[in-house]
Amino acid sequence: MNEIKNKDRRDFLAKAAVAGVAIGAGTNLFGAVNKPNIACKGWAAFDESGELRPWKFERRAVGDDDILIEVMAASICHSDIHTELGHWGKQIYPQVPGHEIVGLVREVGKNVKNFKIGDRAGVGCMVDNTDIATAGSEEQYSKNTIFTYGHPYPKEPTGISQGGYSDYFVVNSHFAIHIPNELSWDEAAPLMCAGITTYSPIMKYMKKGDNVAIIGIGGLGHLGIKIAITKGAKVTAFTTTKSKIKDIESWGAKAVLVKSSDDLAPFRAKFDFALSTIPYEFEMEPYIAMVKPFGSFTLVGMPINFSQKTQTLNLASTKVNLNASLIGGMKETAEMAEFCAKAGVRPNIVKITGEKINQAWRDVVAKRARYRFVIDPKSF
Ligand code: ZN
Repeated sequence: MNEIKNKDRRDFLAKAAVAGVAIGAGTNLFGAVNKPNIACKGWAAFDESGELRPWKFERRAVGDDDILIEVMAASICHSDIHTELGHWGKQIYPQVPGHEIVGLVREVGKNVKNFKIGDRAGVGCMVDNTDIATAGSEEQYSKNTIFTYGHPYPKEPTGISQGGYSDYFVVNSHFAIHIPNELSWDEAAPLMCAGITTYSPIMKYMKKGDNVAIIGIGGLGHLGIKIAITKGAKVTAFTTTKSKIKDIESWGAKAVLVKSSDDLAPFRAKFDFALSTIPYEFEMEPYIAMVKPFGSFTLVGMPINFSQKTQTLNLASTKVNLNASLIGGMKETAEMAEFCAKAGVRPNIVKITGEKINQAWRDVVAKRARYRFVIDPKSF
């Protein structure tokens, strides 16, 4: 629909320019035709209430380095909720969240070499970089990287980047990957943040045959289990939700129900590597102590205000390397998607319409998600 509308508008602008009609917006001082912005329908936050509503807005016109994607699926990450609630700092509203985005390429800018119209594309947590030549292969750590929503971004008509709960998306093509044909749209979307965020530290800190602890079994954790097992680890999963135990076992991991730190004591110095996906502050010491000396404990869950306490004596006495990891670079994201496609790693998903987003957010916070909600943008 929007594409047709935009095409009509382009045709009109082109004809108007030829006819010498002064039409203001869409032409510059010299009468040359500017490309029109992209009219979009999405679901946006308007304040810190955590309630989203439908919103019509414009994205920038497709630039020389950009691609336009018709979004086929967008999934819900806990980060969407933290951000819109203001847990990570004040936001500019209206703001469309969503950084797990897949769809069909509908338009390409004139400099774009890596995509053509009709390709299957995926976008994660990054959309651009103001100095791409210096961004390196781990773009997530570049100070010039533009993240997918809520980031100041003068190129966009709203002044900030707007995320993927939307029917169309414009992105610098460097920040899109090809989605392998083996993956359905709904299966591919959650890989764009949850997949790469767990894959990257697993590749860095884990080797085949390792004993691995995955802590917190939601969207990220359940993919972490599947990726680590497929990479040859023996995985033990720690959850506070009893009803997840059967699922965990069905994925080939050992499940431990955690009611208190006493439940962790038997695992002291048992693991080569532990990955925590818990998105709130928690008592880390008994979890850290489960890792062998000189093993790594990696945090990928980000709590309110990014604040997480730990005890230095616990770190000193356990000799565990504590670190945190942020998504992964674009090259690694493409590698992860290929790996999941070929090795059969798939997220467990629940498909929803736009009307169900608010309930889905409540379910994510209440640990009721099983395990990723995927939104159908055709319902907008
Ligand atoms: Zn995310």
